[in-house]
Amino acid sequence: METGKKYQFWFCTGSQDLYGDECLKKVAEHSAKIVEGLNAGGKLPYEVVWKPTLISQASIRKTLNEANGDELCAGVITWMHTFSPAKMWIIGLQEYRKPLCHLHTQFNEEIPYDEIDMDFMNENQSAHGDREYGHIVSRMGIERKIIVGHWANPSLQEKLGSWMRTAVGVMESSHLRICRLGDNMNNVAVTEGDKVEAQIKFGWEIDHYNINDAVEYVQAVPKGEVDARVEEYYGSYRLITDGRDEKAFREAVAVQAAIEIGFEKFLEDGNYHAVVTHFGMLGGLRQLPGLAIQRLMEKGYGFGAEGDWKTAGMVRLMKIMTAGITGAKGTSFLEDYTYNLVPGKEGILQAHMLEVCPTIAEGEISIRVNPLTMGNREDPARLIFTAKEGRGVATSLVDLGNRFRLIINEVMCKKAEKPMPKLPVATAFWTPEPNLETGAAAWIMAGGAHHTAFSYDLSVEQMCDWADAMGIESVVIDKDTDLRSFKNELRWNSIYFRG
Ligand code: MN
Repeated sequence: METGKKYQFWFCTGSQDLYGDECLKKVAEHSAKIVEGLNAGGKLPYEVVWKPTLISQASIRKTLNEANGDELCAGVITWMHTFSPAKMWIIGLQEYRKPLCHLHTQFNEEIPYDEIDMDFMNENQSAHGDREYGHIVSRMGIERKIIVGHWANPSLQEKLGSWMRTAVGVMESSHLRICRLGDNMNNVAVTEGDKVEAQIKFGWEIDHYNINDAVEYVQAVPKGEVDARVEEYYGSYRLITDGRDEKAFREAVAVQAAIEIGFEKFLEDGNYHAVVTHFGMLGGLRQLPGLAIQRLMEKGYGFGAEGDWKTAGMVRLMKIMTAGITGAKGTSFLEDYTYNLVPGKEGILQAHMLEVCPTIAEGEISIRVNPLTMGNREDPARLIFTAKEGRGVATSLVDLGNRFRLIINEVMCKKAEKPMPKLPVATAFWTPEPNLETGAAAWIMAGGAHHTAFSYDLSVEQMCDWADAMGIESVVIDKDTDLRSFKNELRWNSIYFRG
């Protein structure tokens, strides 16, 4: 499955023809050097492509429309080297539809104290030109990321790289396809949502199949392929048989191998990027998909349990946004299960019936076969492990009836205090910021779900930027959250987003 295109970002420098050829030549040289420097810096996940200086309404309109039409272009980075009268930008910006970054930089880092004269001032006036341009973008109410600083500074390049990942999340959202192998669980509210509105807002195509359409694929997997996949599992994971007969254990694992192969083929044939299941709608499946779904998530598929397509979509996007990060710590579907409320040790044990992505695992991963307390199928095989330590971001996309809200909580993942030998599922344990008491209260006040899309490799800022680009409400719960202000923020947002 494709987890990341070779996206590019166009670097568009603004100026005007008032300055004369000599000056415009320098503008072009400077912007080419900046692009070269950005690409050579090693901080950007995607290539920056230099474009000729934009000095007229016609060239701005043409270039921004070309960016719209270029499949590999995931966004435009704009920078006004000199003054670029902003009325020239109106029509181009009106027609532009992709993520926009305003890189507020200048070619020289330091004022050249000994040399500076009025020619230099006229040639290097980003401080001036970028304000004119910024004004029109604000007046037109166009969402953009503003990044300020010298282009060669590694921390600026990191910010640009981080925005690029958000922009790719926006682009990928526009053609995300979610396969529902089962409807939302009966009577459950928070996993429901308006699929038409989701397509309008996010671009998601959310289809439904009878589970038995996928079961046909599972049953058609040749035995040789299933055996080979089981061998692969046996070579990759430790086996915890709990005293079960070796042959019966292997047979239980083989059921999941067939589901993994069959489901993957089903999703590939339908060009789907995310999938949901429901433990109560398993049709001809012998086991609830556990190990199979865990492996599909690891390959980059989004997942949501009990028909939760909103979380499935977010897991997929967050996986794409983190694609290719060196030393990535992982992204998964998770569920708030149970608390530790001992003072000083507060936290939430995260797990699911089975389906936690092994990318978040630390150390050894094992296979176990255990009964489920819910559903009516054979004991399913699953991967078990504990998750890494460190900061992460937990998100919940909810439908409030008249709008979507993305709740974003910074969390600190920790080792659980003690092992839990009788718990046969993968787990994470985290304390929400600013602490359990305020974090959980704010989450509940905002209407957040028990399901989350979680990542160690994304920041609160990236998720907020994504929500802004989508035109939806986002609320952040982090170290600065206090409940009185948070409650007011929700009240004010309800007015702002009404409609
Ligand atoms: Mn659940």
